[in-house]
Amino acid sequence: MQVSEPTKPGAGTAIDRSIPSALSDLFQEVILDHYRRPRNKGAPDESTHSIVMNNPLCGDVIELFLGVSGDRIEEVRFEGRGCSISQASASMMTERLKGAKLGDARALSAKFTRLLHGEAGLERDEELGDLRALSGVSRFPVRIKCALLGFNCLDELIGDSAAGGDVGVDRRGGARP
Ligand code: ZN
Repeated sequence: MQVSEPTKPGAGTAIDRSIPSALSDLFQEVILDHYRRPRNKGAPDESTHSIVMNNPLCGDVIELFLGVSGDRIEEVRFEGRGCSISQASASMMTERLKGAKLGDARALSAKFTRLLHGEAGLERDEELGDLRALSGVSRFPVRIKCALLGFNCLDELIGDSAAGGDVGVDRRGGARP
């Protein structure tokens, strides 16, 4: 028997109050699309890296799974629950990370962080893909943590300041502080 999602009639049409209403309609649509139909969601059978992080301010939880081979992210999936900003952001992030080199993934994280802090012009940067729909979140500082949660997971796993240990990523220099 197939287990189906418990969808109530009309549930998809309800206004999601977790999205700031001042965001443009187009951006709200992109965010809701990722929230309702998240890309790359569900734990994989295998991963080389994984981490769970939460945003206690909002109750958001993201678990990120990476399959890294050499210096490339071959597979990326996530699990999570929480507000639409946090879940949509993680979904958008996975679309940009699949097949990316680790250095490019770090650069994307840095660029998205700058977008959320209001850096002008980045809302037209094609590298950010659908993540650009979250540019308006820069006007809602309390929601920035929601939008960054997935990337916080990424930074912990592969960022320059990642703890290392058993994650199996080659670190430049190799020396520990
Ligand atoms: Zn949130």
